[in-house]
Amino acid sequence: MQRRKLLSVTGITLAGGAATAYRLSRRPSDDDPDSSRVDDSQNDAKPDVSGDEGGDERTDSDDRTNSDDDDEQPQRDDEKSPPSIEDSEGMVVFTYDDSHIKDYTLTYRVHQEYDVPGCIAACPGTMLEQDDFLDPEHLLEMHEDGWSVMSHTYRHRVLGRIRLTEPAPRGADRIYVEWNEHGAIEDDPLVVFDEDSRVSASAAGRGSDSRGDYVELAEPLRESIDESGYVRYPQEFMREVLEKTDETLESWGIDVTGFVYTYDRYHGAVEDVVRDRYETVGNHRYGGGHNELDGLDPTTIRRLYIETDKSTEREIDSFMATAAEEDVLSVVGAHSFFETFDEERLRYTIESAIENDLAIVTIDEALAELGFQ
Ligand SMILES: [Zn+2]
Repeated sequence: MQRRKLLSVTGITLAGGAATAYRLSRRPSDDDPDSSRVDDSQNDAKPDVSGDEGGDERTDSDDRTNSDDDDEQPQRDDEKSPPSIEDSEGMVVFTYDDSHIKDYTLTYRVHQEYDVPGCIAACPGTMLEQDDFLDPEHLLEMHEDGWSVMSHTYRHRVLGRIRLTEPAPRGADRIYVEWNEHGAIEDDPLVVFDEDSRVSASAAGRGSDSRGDYVELAEPLRESIDESGYVRYPQEFMREVLEKTDETLESWGIDVTGFVYTYDRYHGAVEDVVRDRYETVGNHRYGGGHNELDGLDPTTIRRLYIETDKSTEREIDSFMATAAEEDVLSVVGAHSFFETFDEERLRYTIESAIENDLAIVTIDEALAELGFQ
């Protein structure tokens, strides 16, 4: 039972959507703790397969040979239908971060062909301010077609803390940090803190020099913070950001189901703020993706990234086989606009799930089925 719809893709941008200094950058560290400066050693446990394309991953050329002749309509050799939850061996949830326009033009289109839903972790502010992202009507159309929408902050601010790289003395007007993302939006309130002290500050810009990345402060630092320190947003500001995110999505007619951390940065004060607000968190920690049903806590869900630099086809097949064999809720994640995620990988993953008799459901459907909603 395949639904096929004619999609019309509008290029309309809402009025008042002036671009800000912020860009949702495709820096290598985006949502990629392997190559970023995440202060969580367990994140390093996942082997980094990026840049190792000749490794044990089957080469793309093999796959291309198969798909060369289907320019018109990518075929499915096996027209196996996705099972209902009742007839399935388990459930798998597909999540896509950042609400990029390709979530609609690529990902939604392919999901529609298989008649299976997904979930979007949306940044409504970014959607309003940048052209390459979904318009509200795209997201609403997907939502009305059964997709779940999760909060991914208003405009993709990093809500987790970031470590200082050197002491920040009293009077300093810049702080050196592992990554200067907190300086991206001028006038953002900041907290610079170590074990003993906590100082309020305000962002005035960012940059990097021979000493590394820095955040420029609007006023000189009022107290010294030692090298073990971090910078983050004040919790009250985080709450405001999340409230604005949900309110904006809700004003478009969208129900918000839970949260996905930006840049997989989930440590520090943000964790309490998120836990207070959301009953579901899609990336409580990096990696994994098989969430045991026994004692499942929806605020600690983990997911497997299915981009080609994160998972091989073999790993995806193995993931889906385990998803069917064990009592788990399985969750995968991707970014539709990454170069490491394309139609072929998307189809492969969906088909692998179907081959393993897994029901592809939204996070809402999964949690309802499990008695959480
Ligand atoms: Zn993101």
